[in-house]
Amino acid sequence: QGLVKHFPIKKGILQRQVGAVKAVDGIDFDVRRGETLGVVGESGCGKSTMGRLITRLLEPTSGKIEFDGHDITHLGTGGMRPLRRDVQMIFQDPYGSLNPRHTVGSIVSTPFRLQGVEPEGGIKKEVQHLLELVGLSPEHYNRYPHEFSGGQRQRIGIARALALKPKLVVADEPVSALDVSIQAQVVNLLDDLQDELGLTYVIIAHDLSVIRHVSDRIAVMYLGKIVELADRKSLYEAPMHPYTKALLSAVPVPDPRRRGAKSERILLKGDVPSPISPPSGCRFHTRCWKATDICTTREPALTALKTGHQVACHHPENGPDQAPESTAVLE
Ligand code: SF4
Ligand code: MG
Repeated sequence: QGLVKHFPIKKGILQRQVGAVKAVDGIDFDVRRGETLGVVGESGCGKSTMGRLITRLLEPTSGKIEFDGHDITHLGTGGMRPLRRDVQMIFQDPYGSLNPRHTVGSIVSTPFRLQGVEPEGGIKKEVQHLLELVGLSPEHYNRYPHEFSGGQRQRIGIARALALKPKLVVADEPVSALDVSIQAQVVNLLDDLQDELGLTYVIIAHDLSVIRHVSDRIAVMYLGKIVELADRKSLYEAPMHPYTKALLSAVPVPDPRRRGAKSERILLKGDVPSPISPPSGCRFHTRCWKATDICTTREPALTALKTGHQVACHHPENGPDQAPESTAVLE
């Protein structure tokens, strides 16, 4: 609720603060048990920072985070310990996130050692079971990360994340460093594991193609804000935010004959503005083809225009031209 993360910019010997990178600048959302919430946006939109905030790898500047009904916003190291079992993260880079000098067995068993947990049947047996669960072999226990392909390394990272049977897994661009040919395999693995283990996911991605099939709901971020949050079907079939429309138009269509006039590729003008001094009003107005005067002065609130479909835009697509002023939440 009202989640904010500003990274101060300091200058000079006195390290005086001269500004801040407004990475996450006031966002509200929830993640429901058992669902996959996809989070998309271009680099610099704050999606990775958001992931690190909800896993409490970063301290929020302000706002509130609740997990399972408990306020976890200001937990200290002691309070974080049990949370670490329930909330885990999968990182983007399957090369950098695995220590090359450690065996697979040592890497995947790290969470047990950190938490002082001795699984029934012993650590080795449990790790070998985890390796099988992610499609690797128990014989991989004594091997080193460099002996594996990128996709296999990401499977090792997934096994490590699942070791303590977490409830929530935040995956930050879990496949974007992998060959396109194996991205689907890893995404499908995550999907299968969710069913098998009853996991809840937040999957962060820079475009809509990868998370398209696995997300129940999707949040679209732009410059530190959530600009649209909707059920997958509603978002794909009737996107309301011009930015979402542009992102969707960039998703490759398998059969080009199906790309009708409606799905014409939209090329956004200019670059994403700096999160140090985001544009006034609607932050997307410098790149939006629908922008009017009000867009430059008044910030649109994230508003539910349909059940399960929220958008922050003064002139939404596929909806009434004027969004209501209040931030009603229809569920
Ligand atoms: Fe475009 Fe205005 Fe909507 Fe922002 S509020 S997305 S500038 S139409
Ligand atoms: Mg990222």
